[in-house]
Amino acid sequence: MSNQQYIIICYSTSQMLRADSLLKALNVTTDLIPTPSEYGSICSTAIAISHKDKEIAEKILMDHNFAVKGIFPHEIRKLSGLMESLKNTVISQPFKDIMKKVETGETLSKEEITYLLKVEGSEKKVLFETADRMRKEIVGDVVEVRAAIEFSNYCNKSCHYCGIRNGCSVPNRYRMTEDEIMEAVHQLHKTGIKTVVLQSGEDDYYTVDLLIQLIKRIKRETKMGITLSVGERSYEEYAALKKAGANNYLLKIETTNPEIFQFIHPDDDLQVRKQCAQWLKELGYVNASGNMIGLPGQRPEDIAEDILFFKEMGIHMIGIGPFIPAKGTPFEKYPQGSVEMTLKAVAVTRLVCKNVFIPATTALASIDPDGQRKALQAGANSLMLISTPPKYRLNYQIYSNKNMIDLDSAIEAIKEAGRRLPKYLVLNEEVSV
Ligand code: SF4
Repeated sequence: MSNQQYIIICYSTSQMLRADSLLKALNVTTDLIPTPSEYGSICSTAIAISHKDKEIAEKILMDHNFAVKGIFPHEIRKLSGLMESLKNTVISQPFKDIMKKVETGETLSKEEITYLLKVEGSEKKVLFETADRMRKEIVGDVVEVRAAIEFSNYCNKSCHYCGIRNGCSVPNRYRMTEDEIMEAVHQLHKTGIKTVVLQSGEDDYYTVDLLIQLIKRIKRETKMGITLSVGERSYEEYAALKKAGANNYLLKIETTNPEIFQFIHPDDDLQVRKQCAQWLKELGYVNASGNMIGLPGQRPEDIAEDILFFKEMGIHMIGIGPFIPAKGTPFEKYPQGSVEMTLKAVAVTRLVCKNVFIPATTALASIDPDGQRKALQAGANSLMLISTPPKYRLNYQIYSNKNMIDLDSAIEAIKEAGRRLPKYLVLNEEVSV
């Protein structure tokens, strides 16, 4: 039983963070992970410790009067009967060996993840079906729906792939006023959607004070969950936004390969991006990340590293989309990423990270009209609508020919994938998003 892991569940995020700091300060090795579904919501975070540290962690928490919900064995997620169900399927020995590990819940190595990203034919079919089963057993059939309001297309940075980069000739740059943003938020609120994603380029115009004012107003008027996606900021800024009421933060890593990261992000540093992700985790945000598939020079091995990064960082939401060249950018002539590789990355991420939100991304829907249904059947469990007001949305094209997913098309994809709509959606003729 020496490999047995345990998880500590606290009553609140702030208690969990204090307990984690205390344990770390007293030399207990801890890891913050998405809470396993049997103990709470995916959006919350638990502290993972090893068997050897269990007794000392218990003592430390007791000595410091920490009231924790409990310390539970971290059960390994298994897929019982998987090998039996594959006995009449033609698959190679290496693939069979990996599926055996999936069945027993063992951790996959980088080489095994890479192997899965390269499968074709009957093995690819098995990969998608197995990821779909893992999704069903861990997070169920309901598809979570969120909606993004892209409130500014100004950006200080010049990421080579981005259609709103600084220096790119966007027909109209815009900044929504607080009242315009609130109008869009109220429209969403009427649909029953619980979480709004506030997204923009890295635009200094929206100071932390302005964002705090907006967050407080959204909370006051709607009580909606808030995901911020406003780029790299300082620890203090992330802390202030969290304190004001932001719940989630989306900051995509895009790639963990240092050379590719530098090649596509002339203004950024991979270590800074990783540091930001670490801060967001430590501050108790529900932490969202993601990557692009088909970046120049990217190999399956690089995607495998990305997936391991998501697992090791305990990322709660992982958006995986194909690279799509944007007109007027240095990358406009590069070939776009493939739908098939994106779907394989979704499936493998489900098998490796297990208890996480994986959206069927807008980017996928932009290069394949059936892409979201396919992703929902390969391990994905959420969708994001574009709820930027129509007069602005065509000017927020990070990549060209973006598919503006609305509530109707999301519902269609969910139904076609044979999945369930969330109960909170208010479906009537009058509400349009
Ligand atoms: S990807 Fe984001 S940070 Fe980079 S240029 Fe585009 S909006 Fe700005």
